[in-house]
Amino acid sequence: MRKNIVAGNWKMNKTLQEGIALAKDLNEALKQKTVNCDVVICTPFIHLASVAAEIDQTKLGLGAENCADKKSGAYTGEVSAAMVASTGAKYVILGHSERRQYYGETSEILKEKVTLALENNLTPIFCIGEVLAEREAGKHFEVVNTQLKEALFGLSAEDFSKIVIAYEPVWAIGTGKTASSDQAQEIHAVIRQTITEKYGKEVAENTSILYGGSCKASNAQELFAKPDVDGGLIGGAALSVEDFMGIIVAF
Ligand code: PEP
Repeated sequence: MRKNIVAGNWKMNKTLQEGIALAKDLNEALKQKTVNCDVVICTPFIHLASVAAEIDQTKLGLGAENCADKKSGAYTGEVSAAMVASTGAKYVILGHSERRQYYGETSEILKEKVTLALENNLTPIFCIGEVLAEREAGKHFEVVNTQLKEALFGLSAEDFSKIVIAYEPVWAIGTGKTASSDQAQEIHAVIRQTITEKYGKEVAENTSILYGGSCKASNAQELFAKPDVDGGLIGGAALSVEDFMGIIVAF
């Protein structure tokens, strides 16, 4: 059966010291409570090694927010999948809309990143989602299906099974506007159907599809109650233990 997952995306927030403190406090909170989902935090690169040394990854998984599309070499400022893995991190967010929008990440680039992440035993949390104009034009299903197919459908079924999908409507990210639980369910079901058509029912049923976009304690329960919503990718609300735990306990 697929896993329920709540993953935090810290984005470009928290100094090293603040990040270590947040990770330690979250790890402590998770030790005190039995939860019904996997919990992951994805932090800036510079936090990874220090945070890995402070947390119990059987309770709190660790991931990066990105990795390079090249293996190694003269790519100043880049961080490779192998480097991420060497910190002890096990996950990597790929294809976040902010990376697509501000850093020009295309499906071609993302394909390379996914391959390198998998080669280094990292679990990609692969983001797809439409912008507002695309939803208003009724193109949201087509947009997410194209993003899926272009970047991921070259993978073998075995490799695809290692991917976590995050559906994140761009109009809901950091805006306080959440997709309704019915909107989330509708598009998650379409995504699962598209995966079924390519890889078969078993692979599709075992794929975790997370919802992201202004998810918070007050709406998480309704979203997570939907049959095809297997958890959340959380931005703003992952920056405080109280807010993040409020979402985690929604399962
Ligand atoms: C995100 O950036 O992945 C995200 C879902 O952000 P927020 O929860 O702040 O909307």
